[in-house]
Amino acid sequence: MTRHLRRLSCAVLLTACAPAMQSGSAGEADLAITNVAVVDVERGRLLSNQTVLIQGGRITAVLPSARVRLPTTARVIDGRRKYLIPGLWDMHVHLYGSGNPTGIELPLFVAHGVTGVRVMGADRPSVNPAVTRGLDQHRALQAQIANGTLTGPRVLALASWAVNGTTGITDSMPGFYRARTRDEGRELARYFKERGFDFIKIYGNVSREGYLGLAEEARALGLQFAGHEPASLSAVELSNAGQKSIEHSRIFLLNCFPGADSMQKGLLRESATVRRRRMVDEYDPRICAGVFQAFARNETYITPTHGTRKMDAFADDSAYRRDPRMKYIPMRQQMGWLTDANGMVASDSSAAGRKSYLDFYTGGLTLTREAYRAGVPVMVGTDAGDSFIFAGSSVHDELEELVKAGLSPAEALRAATLSGARYLERTAEFGTVQAGRSADLVLLDGNPLDDIRNTRRIHAVVLAGRHLDRARLDSMLASVETAARPDPQVRLWAAAMSGDTLEIVRALEAGARIDSLGDNRRALNWAALNNRVPALRVLLARGAGINLKNATGFTAVHHAAEVGALDALEILIGAGADLTIRTAGGMLPLDVARARGHQAAVRRLEAARKPQP
Ligand SMILES: [Zn+2]
Repeated sequence: MTRHLRRLSCAVLLTACAPAMQSGSAGEADLAITNVAVVDVERGRLLSNQTVLIQGGRITAVLPSARVRLPTTARVIDGRRKYLIPGLWDMHVHLYGSGNPTGIELPLFVAHGVTGVRVMGADRPSVNPAVTRGLDQHRALQAQIANGTLTGPRVLALASWAVNGTTGITDSMPGFYRARTRDEGRELARYFKERGFDFIKIYGNVSREGYLGLAEEARALGLQFAGHEPASLSAVELSNAGQKSIEHSRIFLLNCFPGADSMQKGLLRESATVRRRRMVDEYDPRICAGVFQAFARNETYITPTHGTRKMDAFADDSAYRRDPRMKYIPMRQQMGWLTDANGMVASDSSAAGRKSYLDFYTGGLTLTREAYRAGVPVMVGTDAGDSFIFAGSSVHDELEELVKAGLSPAEALRAATLSGARYLERTAEFGTVQAGRSADLVLLDGNPLDDIRNTRRIHAVVLAGRHLDRARLDSMLASVETAARPDPQVRLWAAAMSGDTLEIVRALEAGARIDSLGDNRRALNWAALNNRVPALRVLLARGAGINLKNATGFTAVHHAAEVGALDALEILIGAGADLTIRTAGGMLPLDVARARGHQAAVRRLEAARKPQP
């Protein structure tokens, strides 16, 4: 109320008032955006013909243009026929997916109007608990962005490594990392607090007792925890335990069907596909009403990241896999994404299996709407860095998903701006276009309240008061494209994976080494894993080492056996592959095929087995 009154009086006497909000001398401003339509994301309406004054990285005034005498110091941006929104926040990102955040992720975020990110995993568990290399790297980026030496979105909060039970914890690491008991859970919370993480990332396999201990201690320490849903707890339990946000639009489907209780107790024995089917088909709104109520009461946020469920559903869609934005993604990361998509399809490639993923994705959209209508706070997050989730532009995808779900454009926009600021309790600084807020702004060429797709029509970005015009944003995008361009070696691996024999030859001629090992795979391994017969032939003809092991002792024939690639197996056996080579774990190709249940490959390898000398 006080702020409102002050704004009214300022409207009358700008020159006297503006400096009262800012310690500079009267009428100063670095930047002025004139005659612009300001989008009030809180109320979902437009304030037309406004002038926004910015100084020292802050908004100092937002006033009807007619009442503003422009300070002579200000650089003026003509805002006519343009719309000003707060900078967009992506509340679920990973910064190091490309291995080159300053060259790829950071410029992609800014060029797409994303001015703030919550990092959902800033480290990996290390043997020495005093070592937090990932956190240190992220803190360095955060500091460089904050002091302006690096152009990037504000790094708003950094999560610990994912607390996931025994998964990913080796014997040489401290026992309490596993959080098997309440005491270990408590110790783990204290550990994260001491190491300086901003919040704890929760994952699916953490034990019930460990989670409850961690939650109790984290609450006592004032340390937030957020993330996935542990398998052994219900949504209401998580919400009541104080988990601050739940990610990925699964939580309501997992909890609102009659089998949910048994599932949490580990009693369901059906296949994952059948279970997904049941969650969608047996969804019961009466169960969810109670869940929504708890989330609304406890202010448990959801970050639906609908794009991640879309990836599950579209993993086998060739247009989806050939997204034109791939030009911004380094090829090694692309290969990881494609491998992930292949694994998703392989998990159940039947029509019923694929359909279950599609229905799970659209069911997630419906439940986001239902939850939102029931008062559950929703914020935009994308999982940028995860497969087929593009830093920056995926925020606009997610805005569209929310509108598809049934939110109005204004509600979707609020979820990508004010909602995140509320979540972090930083509404005094961020989330709206108002005097006193940070000057993180996006100037649009179309009205986003009419059509949410207009958030993509970015005329300029203002980042901590710095004006980045369209030409500058375009040059940032061009530099990302250059940074993502692969060298011959990576081109060779990718061509072996996709089976592009012409490109294999070109990459070799450009200097790629045929047996070079990248991401623990050689070109021949990539071709075997993807059952690329012509590629295998070309590589073998050019001298690829057929019996070379990678770091885990796998040869090309192990890889063919691993995925049941019969054609590849035939070529490799025909070319004289040694079938007696064992992996680091002591497995013959035949053992690998057996372990993976590829019966035809087992028979082929048995037939090829020769008596040992
Ligand atoms: Zn994530």
